[in-house]
Amino acid sequence: MPFYIQPIREFLVRPALPESLSRISELAYNLLWSWEPIIRALFRRLDPGLWRSCGYNPVLMLGRISQAALQKAAGDPRYLALYRMACETYDSRVRKGDPPANGQLIAYFSAEYGMTECLPIYSGGLGILSGDHLKSCSDQDFPLVGLGLLYQQGYFRQILNPDGWQQERYPTNDFYTLPLRPVKNAAGEDLKVTVKMPAGPVFIQVWSLEVGRIKLYLLDTNIPENQLPQDRDITDSLYGGDTDTRMRQEIVLGIGGMRALQAMGLKPTVFHMNEGHSAFLALEQIRLLMRDAKLTFEEALEAARGSNVFTTHTPVPAGIDLFDPGLMYHYFSEYCAEIGTDFQQMMALGRRNVFDRGERFSMAVLALNTSCYRNAVSRLHRQVSQEMFHDLWPQLPIWEVPITSITNGVHLPSWLNGDLASLYDQYLQPDWRERFNDPDIWAQVQEIPDEELLEAHRRRKRRLISFVRARQHESALRRQASAAEVRRAGEVLDPNAFTIGFARRFATYKRATLIFRDVERLKRILLHKEMPVQIVIAGKAHPKDQPGKSYIREVVQLSRDPDLWKHVVFVEDYDMKVGRELVQGVDLWLNNPRRGEEACGTSGMKAAINGVLNLSILDGWFDEAYEHSGGWAIGEREPYSEDQDALHASPTRKTRTASTPAPSITCWRAKSSRCSTSSASSRRASGCGG
Ligand SMILES: *Cc1c(COP(=O)(O)O)cnc(C)c1O
Repeated sequence: MPFYIQPIREFLVRPALPESLSRISELAYNLLWSWEPIIRALFRRLDPGLWRSCGYNPVLMLGRISQAALQKAAGDPRYLALYRMACETYDSRVRKGDPPANGQLIAYFSAEYGMTECLPIYSGGLGILSGDHLKSCSDQDFPLVGLGLLYQQGYFRQILNPDGWQQERYPTNDFYTLPLRPVKNAAGEDLKVTVKMPAGPVFIQVWSLEVGRIKLYLLDTNIPENQLPQDRDITDSLYGGDTDTRMRQEIVLGIGGMRALQAMGLKPTVFHMNEGHSAFLALEQIRLLMRDAKLTFEEALEAARGSNVFTTHTPVPAGIDLFDPGLMYHYFSEYCAEIGTDFQQMMALGRRNVFDRGERFSMAVLALNTSCYRNAVSRLHRQVSQEMFHDLWPQLPIWEVPITSITNGVHLPSWLNGDLASLYDQYLQPDWRERFNDPDIWAQVQEIPDEELLEAHRRRKRRLISFVRARQHESALRRQASAAEVRRAGEVLDPNAFTIGFARRFATYKRATLIFRDVERLKRILLHKEMPVQIVIAGKAHPKDQPGKSYIREVVQLSRDPDLWKHVVFVEDYDMKVGRELVQGVDLWLNNPRRGEEACGTSGMKAAINGVLNLSILDGWFDEAYEHSGGWAIGEREPYSEDQDALHASPTRKTRTASTPAPSITCWRAKSSRCSTSSASSRRASGCGG
């Protein structure tokens, strides 16, 4: 007898909200708090300790807070003033009337969303981009809804064992204590849609997350209607499970997502596939057009293509989902038969060589074939993608392969530190938060006195160091480390030392251990008497990535070297919170992937908007922004070859030739360049002169 496993649920006994704070729950259920400091302050001020222990999740916090604390706040005129300001901010950002009604609606599909650290349904850059995209669309009044999957298990939390090996812990997302609400149908019941799978229908519940003015709909199959465990488990975990699970997830996302939109009465005019995971949506479009508008397959394909947009993020073929023809047949033969389409005709949409019946079905190829606008995520990545997919347009020269580029960006209010923001409040136009896209807004940065900028940066660095020490302390206690180790955890790093940050997924192409190639030389640099240097590192390896995990171990082992422990620190459990502290508090952001393999990279942009200089390979965004953003380049613009690992880690300065426009300084020139740079802004940001 199949049984339904109830997700772990904390039953929140919500205290009655005092009349004067009646809207606080409405504010908690809109993620605007994740980027509006005044709304966040409202929750923090209620009870800072509880705010922290609830993982910065206001819904959970409101469920746990005592009636007494609420009554106290309701009687405090200072708190009430804050509350009124927070409500005003909320109303001006969320309730400012309908967006321009031009009949447009974009449906944005993504397999992951990095919205806030308390909702771990993201793994890395792709998810953070999706999250920042929704927040920016809210700020700029774009008519958009997001579609994604609501994973029962969050992406893993990383803890290190005493040897430095990464261990994974999977937290359970308790949807009822998160800012999520089930979408209701006209009858007031939870809205559910179905997709047909070979073993029968799969039911999907639709949840909604408010992101400022934007709605993100998340799909969940862990509901009692699904009797088979394998159906309930479809949305169990992000990028977990085997190819079969991945297939089912992508059917739920693409086809289920389309049905959810329809059931909610939404009629998007544009469908945006963020990466290929959602590309089955195009098959559903074709099916509907054939069924309802009585079009032929070719006509339906043409019509569907006209409304679809695809963003590719994957510069390495191994990163693309491929499905065996047998598996495709298992899931799609009936689907094809229903609409009277030949299975091979559909398979051709996902093949590079349409005549090769053994070729696996590629989700990226499907997305490219079924969209009319395709973009890579940086200029360099456009070239890489054009080469990668040239065989789909063999008659065109590579540079005409119809993939354009839109360089990724970051959502400034989410990543800018509060100390800089309050300087901007003093020195920039009062509406800089709304107009941050306007270059003129930034001209007045010149008027901020150096000393104030430097002080803001120093404050951030001290904050980073306390954060890291507290984390190290907690983790030493948890692993039951020796008393000496626990004590040392509170003594790592020096607020006066030059600080390098490196935080990324530990995918091997990112070369996290490059800086440790010559440990003796590194020691001389780090332990310099007058100009000490220190490195803060964080990052997770994919649970199945053994080489990535051994890189982590290597770094952790080095961070325990008796000479280095104060200077090299690995911070466990990289997430949005760790990322934010790091990009806001270090002096230099290090990025050394193999050139051509980082589609864009965004953490360096987050560093840059906080006045932190980049030291980076000329890859992704940095390849096009280097000349404007300041900082230093590692190496030249040549494509990656293995001997470059040694070159990029070496101290020799390569001669610059006229044919290489970018000045190139290998890593450790940064130290001397640091104090000889003529740019006032880079001097300020690097903490020079301090
Ligand atoms: C910004 C960010 C990323 C993406 O950064 P990359 O430069 O692309 O590596 C990944 N994870 C987290 C938590 C981030 O904040």
